[in-house]
Amino acid sequence: MEKLAIFGGKPVRENKIFYGHQTVLEDDVKAVTEVLTSDYLTCGPKVSELEKKLAEYCEAKYAVSVSNGTAALHCACLAAGIGPGDEVITTPLTFAASANCVLYVGGTPVFADINPKTYNIDPESIRAHITDKTKAVIAVDFTGQCIEFEKIRAICDEYNLILIEDAAHSIGSLYNGKKVGSLADMTCFSFHPVKNITCGEGGAITTNNEEFHKKLVLAHTHGITHDESLMEEAPHEGSWYYEQISLGFNYRLTDIQAAFLISQLNKLDSFKEKRKAIVKKYNEAFKSIPEIIIQEEIPESDSCRHLYIIRLSLDKLNCTRREFFDAMSAENIQCQVHYVPTYFFPYYKHLGYSEGLCPNAEEVYRGILSIPLYPTLTDKDTDDVIEAVRKITDYYRK
Ligand SMILES: *Cc1c(COP(=O)(O)O)cnc(C)c1O
Repeated sequence: MEKLAIFGGKPVRENKIFYGHQTVLEDDVKAVTEVLTSDYLTCGPKVSELEKKLAEYCEAKYAVSVSNGTAALHCACLAAGIGPGDEVITTPLTFAASANCVLYVGGTPVFADINPKTYNIDPESIRAHITDKTKAVIAVDFTGQCIEFEKIRAICDEYNLILIEDAAHSIGSLYNGKKVGSLADMTCFSFHPVKNITCGEGGAITTNNEEFHKKLVLAHTHGITHDESLMEEAPHEGSWYYEQISLGFNYRLTDIQAAFLISQLNKLDSFKEKRKAIVKKYNEAFKSIPEIIIQEEIPESDSCRHLYIIRLSLDKLNCTRREFFDAMSAENIQCQVHYVPTYFFPYYKHLGYSEGLCPNAEEVYRGILSIPLYPTLTDKDTDDVIEAVRKITDYYRK
């Protein structure tokens, strides 16, 4: 048996690769530098252009750009009118922001369990957690795979709930041929460097609902409006006049970032092809390793995958997830775990949540790790990842 790098053997590769990495090309650099010497660094024409292009790409009526994905979720909760006494159902297997945004507005996150095969929120568990206080559902397209939209939409319609899609992972994905961003009441995106496209930090919300759009616009810029039709007082004071009509935040994106993101958006479909090809190659390779469980996808989802997660059958291996993770790292494949269930965190425990709430999410969490997935991985890189997984499973096989 081959000696693992962690025990002094030769690593499968010399330089480290990470689970995710941004793809920034010459045209992105050009787009950004052009804005730097223009009249507007923020609140200028690039932001409007981006919002138009993003809405077009997502086949949505409106898009509002914001400073990050967390701000997008916060604005969506504000626009949905979530407040103290309201419950919002979400998944625990996600980044903390999916639930934190509910706390920002004084609401109560309620955790529904996941489907143990797809890792996405289970529609039947959503139904089981509905009370007369439930106001909204925040469903996450985990790893980039679309939620079971039709089932969740039907449940939301039945109970009159607002459906917010956390699409931080899934820009570029399609559900039954329809773009993510065109489906839910509001869809929230993140443009952090590890996500499918980036502008450093950035986010957006798309919607087809005019009322939500108005509220999102106000929420992301202080609750201030220049639109006379929205003003309550003295609309004829003068052209300089504006009014603050609600309490909003400064969550604006800059023109520098908007130009960067327009340039990235132009490349999204080509990034998607590369991500899909890598997912296919990994799936093929891991099918023949019985200790590795592959994430299942619903046929409705044509996924622009942000993450590739392998799940270890720990009962078939003589190692812990941590030992496997550290062994991968020693082979120079730097993995990550997505995610620690939100309610495992001390902050949530202090709020009264406790382990045991979502058994499927907890069980899946114990065995997962995310391996490298991004468009600039070479064939050699993905071969190395597969070889490292094989080498380590061979070593620890019971
Ligand atoms: C990244 C992420 C966010 C937050 O986005 P930021 O741009 O980092 O604020 C929210 N939800 C999920 C599922 C994410 O992965």
